[in-house]
Amino acid sequence: MENIKEKIEELRKTLRYHSDRYYNDDAPEIEDYEYDMMMRELKALEEAHPEFDDPDSPTKRVGGKADNSFNSITHTVRMESLQDAFSKDEIFDFDKRVKDTVDNVHYVVEPKIDGLSVSLEYINGVFSRGSTRGDGDVGEDVSGNIRVIRNVPLKLNKAIPYIEVRGEVYMPKKSFNRVVDRQLINGEKPFKNPRNAAAGSLRQKDSVVTASRGLDIFVFNVQQVEGVTLNSHKESLDFLKELGFNTIPFYKRVDSIEKAFECVEQIGEQRGELEFDIDGAVIKVDDFSERELLGSTSKFPKWAVAFKYPPEEKQTELIDIEMAVGRTGVLTPTAVLNPVHLAGTTVSRATLHNQDFINEKGVNIGDIVTVRKAGDIIPEVLCVNEKRSEGNFVFPEVCPSCGEKVVREEGEAAIRCINPECPAQLLRNLIHFCSRDAMDIEGLGPSIIETFVDNGFIEKTSDIYHLNETEIAKLEGFKETSANNIITSVEKSKEQDLGKLIFALGIRHIGAKAAKLLADEFRDIDSIINASVEDILNIEGFGLIMAESVVDFFSNESARQLIDELKAAGVNMNSKSVIKDNRFEGMTFVLTGTLEHYKRSEASKIIESFGGKTSSSVSKKTSYVLSGEASGSKLDKANALGVPVINEAEFEEMIKDD
Ligand code: NAD
Repeated sequence: MENIKEKIEELRKTLRYHSDRYYNDDAPEIEDYEYDMMMRELKALEEAHPEFDDPDSPTKRVGGKADNSFNSITHTVRMESLQDAFSKDEIFDFDKRVKDTVDNVHYVVEPKIDGLSVSLEYINGVFSRGSTRGDGDVGEDVSGNIRVIRNVPLKLNKAIPYIEVRGEVYMPKKSFNRVVDRQLINGEKPFKNPRNAAAGSLRQKDSVVTASRGLDIFVFNVQQVEGVTLNSHKESLDFLKELGFNTIPFYKRVDSIEKAFECVEQIGEQRGELEFDIDGAVIKVDDFSERELLGSTSKFPKWAVAFKYPPEEKQTELIDIEMAVGRTGVLTPTAVLNPVHLAGTTVSRATLHNQDFINEKGVNIGDIVTVRKAGDIIPEVLCVNEKRSEGNFVFPEVCPSCGEKVVREEGEAAIRCINPECPAQLLRNLIHFCSRDAMDIEGLGPSIIETFVDNGFIEKTSDIYHLNETEIAKLEGFKETSANNIITSVEKSKEQDLGKLIFALGIRHIGAKAAKLLADEFRDIDSIINASVEDILNIEGFGLIMAESVVDFFSNESARQLIDELKAAGVNMNSKSVIKDNRFEGMTFVLTGTLEHYKRSEASKIIESFGGKTSSSVSKKTSYVLSGEASGSKLDKANALGVPVINEAEFEEMIKDD
């Protein structure tokens, strides 16, 4: 018995953990199916052992909670969840339970949109408030973000006194691909699936970001309404449409559970072709008076059931393995399969993730493998069923896109191409090269760079310095002045300091500060190119991974060629920080608090001009802490470590001309 109690507790804990990742971080770590199966196991154990009942159990609560970055809203009509079913038998059991209470029932069957549930309220036909479901009782006020969603009417076709509707905000597959593409270009962690992308986008602090994500909505329920009487679900969907809502895209009213299940199967077959993700189909009792008789549990209405399409698995032959280079330079292997029909789509490709995954599964070309697809998530090779090949597939040593040698860093699963001129990474590298902390080329933002690449103006980085003003001015949307402004900022960027250029090259592990340290230490590009790992390790703050990354980068022929081309274009290759004299050589200063006569950046420049360095944290190696007004913990740390602390007057004394 003790064991069962422990098992129940463990399942509750694990489910709470995953629920938190899913609802609050929008970053699930496991498949929905796995989560649902765990939930079932818990439900079965709780039913068999009512002595371990807990009203707070995940089986009794609607997932999610209101985040305190938005105002909370208490829903007047509870936003319930749905009971789920994974087989025909379970659907027929649902029908039996319904028929215990009502006869001659009609059902409506609709797709179950995989997004997040929202409530929209209208007063006198005008949008007044939008909120998330949260835990069903309390949600978040996301009105500002709801307003910017396509297909959310801000004014209804009829000025009815009050109506609250429920809908599903979702991200169309097209928007999802665009958003993920952009995230990869920017080096951000991409959303896992459209559902999480929709939730993450709706809960943004800045509605401009929400607006840029291309969200949409399907409305499927009237929560409450004044001045109108509705008798059935079908009637309410027609009414919602009349008011101007984008209602659930298709539904069918049927008079038996057999016909309802046929609809569920039909929807399942179509789901691969839809422009949005669905994770099931919902069967609902149509008549509202019958719904009332059936009632609800603490979590879901008894008059509806969601059929969830279980993940499908099939065996097939792995014909080939294709290697692609992503925009971040990571090599990804894709299995090319003998096509099989899975989860409503024909699957002919599946992800193999990385070399470790391939080794773990023992995969090679020619093997018979099991492929699995859950919902619209990319299919995955689960295991090898029949080994028809020798050994495991091994990654190539050169990049499939540019032919340069690839590298694998210690402790990393990814193998990547670090060639700054690799065509597969061009767009991302260009955006970084032109960005503010890098070459700071005003006017050359991501979309303009994309236009120039699409028009063949830029094929490699140094082409930026050979852009033609007349050609740019001919492009749609560019006038002479804007073309001229771009050329002027390109010219200006040639004078950037060496540190900015080093950062612009996008060397892995070398941020803006490390790039500046390299420039200050070696003073010109050729000295950096010729530096050894040991030379670079002499710079304070540099570790082995950083030093090796710099040496690896410049050992790449294409990187050196890029530098030659930039030199030929007239780009500055020297450090501009002037060293007046070396009185601070070998010294590191930490600045804290507010100085009276200098901004921190100015004080740092002065220290550097005397050959010294600044650091953001105090350690035993710190030479001085320069302390201004309202100094905080750094001062305490300096005192604890016995590091000398100087004030502004003492600093001025130190920098006085001899
Ligand atoms: P649910 O998604 O199974 O069903 C309820 C929701 O369906 C409602 O909120 C509603 O907005 C939505 N819906 C979409 N179309 C609808 C329609 N036509 N009619 C009525 N409702 C419609 O339940 P839930 O409580 O929101 O979430 C549970 C789901 O979340 C499960 O699928 C579970 O796997 C998943 N989940 C996954 C993880 C994970 O780690 N992978 C963690 C927690 C939850």
